[in-house]
Amino acid sequence: MFFSHISVDEWTISSDEQRELASCDEPTMLFDGRWERVGFSGIVSRPRAGFQFLAGRTICAAPMADTNLMSIPGQVDPVPVARDITPRADGRLDLIGLPKERIRELFEDAGLEPKQAKLRSKQVFHWLYHRGVTDFDAMTDIAKTMRPWLTERFVIGRPEVVEAQHSTDGTRKWLLKTADGHEFEMVFIPDADRGTLCVSSQVGCTLNCRFCHTGTMKLVRNLTPGEIVGQVMLARDALGEWPKGSMAGLDEAEDEGHYSSDGRLLTNIVMMGMGEPLYNFDNVKSALKLVMDGAGLALSKRRITLSTSGVVPAMQRCGEEIGVNLAVSLHAVTKEIRDEIVPLNKKYGIEELLEACAAYPGASNARRITFEYVMLKDKNDSDEHAHELVRLLKQYNLPAKVNLIPFNPWPGAAYETSTPERVRSFSNIVFEGGISAPVRTPRGRDIDAACGQLKTAAEKKSRAQRDREAAEAAEAAGA
Ligand code: SAH
Ligand code: SF4
Repeated sequence: MFFSHISVDEWTISSDEQRELASCDEPTMLFDGRWERVGFSGIVSRPRAGFQFLAGRTICAAPMADTNLMSIPGQVDPVPVARDITPRADGRLDLIGLPKERIRELFEDAGLEPKQAKLRSKQVFHWLYHRGVTDFDAMTDIAKTMRPWLTERFVIGRPEVVEAQHSTDGTRKWLLKTADGHEFEMVFIPDADRGTLCVSSQVGCTLNCRFCHTGTMKLVRNLTPGEIVGQVMLARDALGEWPKGSMAGLDEAEDEGHYSSDGRLLTNIVMMGMGEPLYNFDNVKSALKLVMDGAGLALSKRRITLSTSGVVPAMQRCGEEIGVNLAVSLHAVTKEIRDEIVPLNKKYGIEELLEACAAYPGASNARRITFEYVMLKDKNDSDEHAHELVRLLKQYNLPAKVNLIPFNPWPGAAYETSTPERVRSFSNIVFEGGISAPVRTPRGRDIDAACGQLKTAAEKKSRAQRDREAAEAAEAAGA
């Protein structure tokens, strides 16, 4: 028996595919290096050998004994990922990260009539993502008798808080943990007119940029949609700002947020935490759809920025399918230097990258692409580099702004931060070239602000100390 390129949406397996699977003993799939048993409802449980499941949602399945693996489609280097829906130890399923349609299917699988399942999924979706409740009992428009039925089968999860830090400048940083014990970070940066949440897309990163601490960590895995959107939800919990409105007037067809910043703390999201978001495209997309859904977290795509180190083949898709603002970690203007500090440059060079930027769907003078440039002393910070940056951005006719980031040092880093005078001179040249080039002020220095540092600092602490701090953090988040 052989499955070839069966597209599976959100782990739903059609009845024909289920019949095929049912004809095998203990069907299992290899998902990015991890064997998992397949339940006939499409829910994966424990690891076993048997079928191949390759990156993305394309099944290339075959009995292990006599069939070669098909090559992994697409350009994306695969990394291990967890299931979008792994049952808890008690068998209950976490709904966070699932779209309305998938919730409806699960309700139907669990025995609700189709009409009921549709109505309930709409109500539950609203309570989950728009109102932020974590308890089915709080869903007041759902019949009291129905709530225990939900509680028995489903949970509403959040990433676990290992440690929460609050900087003197208002920056807040959380060390979080997945249900299977992997740690990752999230940072909230308040400004006068906005509050930006910096969200992680992976535990660690495969790309090894030389100045980046995350790049020195061994990649553990991609974060699931639930773990990504869960960060935004946790931040809203901690900031105490879930909307209190009713469902009346919600437009089902609405797919873009109408979120207003009036009086809000969390107004913007940047995918600039740990990891390369375009190497976890599907999960980042699923999570951001929930963030942008007017019936969900309802944040406008104009308030979301995805930062990539330059995964050229996924950039067009990012613009077309996600539609958020783009930030590109350029950091150097010559092949030699960029090859050294952003090794992905050896695969996708500067010209190719800038061409992809010029073609980025939705980019315009009103929605400019941000070019991030980390200022490394005597490496990429000369006046000549600044002039070359202006020339390149003009050559490709890019609607661009430049973000100059003073290097945030970490123990053992190979670079130093450029002097303030150097940064100023660089910024002036770019500015005189007609391109805005603000210097990003370092934030939260007293709480290990650089990417990846909180995690490493926490690893040095004793288990008891971390448990104590986690209990305090959970209390503070709930307060
Ligand atoms: N992987 C993506 C997004 C995460 S990194 C990317 O590389 O774009 C977010 C930004 O922080 C990137 O521009 C990255 O280059 C920058 N960065 C990483 N480590 C840094 C450090 N130690 N000091 C200053 N900026 C850093
Ligand atoms: Fe990964 Fe971005 Fe760090 Fe490079 S800068 S190692 S792509 S997280």
